Amino acid sequence: MLGCVIHGAGDLRVAELPEPEPGPGEALVAVRHGGVCGSDLHYWRHGGVGDFRLREPMVLGHEVVGTVVSYGSGATGPAPGTAVAVHPATPCGHCPECSDGRPNVCRDTRYLGSAARFPHVQGAFAGRIAVPAGQVRALPEGLGLRRAALAEPLSVALHAVRRAGAVSGGHVLVTGAGPIGCLVVAAAKAAGATRVTAADPVPEALRYAAVAGADALVRADDPADAGWPDEVDVAVEASGVAAGLDTCLRRVRRGGVVVQLGMLPPGRSPFAGNLLVSREIELRGAFRFSAEFDDALELLAARGEFDGLVSAVVPVGEAADAFALAADRTRSCKVLLEFGD
Ligand code: ZN
Repeated sequence: MLGCVIHGAGDLRVAELPEPEPGPGEALVAVRHGGVCGSDLHYWRHGGVGDFRLREPMVLGHEVVGTVVSYGSGATGPAPGTAVAVHPATPCGHCPECSDGRPNVCRDTRYLGSAARFPHVQGAFAGRIAVPAGQVRALPEGLGLRRAALAEPLSVALHAVRRAGAVSGGHVLVTGAGPIGCLVVAAAKAAGATRVTAADPVPEALRYAAVAGADALVRADDPADAGWPDEVDVAVEASGVAAGLDTCLRRVRRGGVVVQLGMLPPGRSPFAGNLLVSREIELRGAFRFSAEFDDALELLAARGEFDGLVSAVVPVGEAADAFALAADRTRSCKVLLEFGD
């Protein structure tokens, strides 16, 4: 079976990998689609994401769907042949954060295709993967594998909106209209926001934000753009650029909430910190997700417009092209790799 292995910055290889056997408690899944995430692109271009650096070769990928093949001893779940999405996180279950109901910030979690710990947790861009059976979810009625491949990034977006608190009836600004930003737009609308403004310097990216349901589009590189709101109730920073956080702090209302979702560059980031004080702005981080995965599958099943955010499906053998396409925001939103026979 073929898999995508990152060896270092700029060194992505499609390689023949040994097929895994499901261990005790595990499901063996034949992967069909895997979404290329911004973090996969960061590993590819920079050899790391945020403060996590590559220290050994790692199979990339954590946004995967496929079909159940079999189970290891003691494991049960959807019948073999069932179409499933794979929740990528295996929290420890007993650290203070897990005990507190926040497994997404578990201090000892395992997350598919992440260099956050060493040895790295190998990812899911491979023909077959063995994962804990409890992380496999049958797709809801009417949801196909292609759209379901958005479940992981949509979960991230739903979690970010949940972190913001009540958005119903409010105006939400989203900085960054990449796949995650677009899914935040959709998540904010689904949560009842009456107006969502998306900001990005790339016009083509803003067009995808419109597909996701944005009410207003703003060129982030144009301070004079007439679309800039005077103030918003909530701002979600989804670009991973410090300037985006600065914009969010300047545009949110007094006492408003800013959620930092994009992974900023390694180290320190400059932003207008005094606004936190003088306007009593609440700055909150959002990292991954937990139970939102099931909500994401239901939302995907209900809304056909998500299909418009999948801009290409590329065979795994052409992974280099897929990554280049995913990195070019003038040509793509979410790019999926396709595995299998
Ligand atoms: Zn834990």
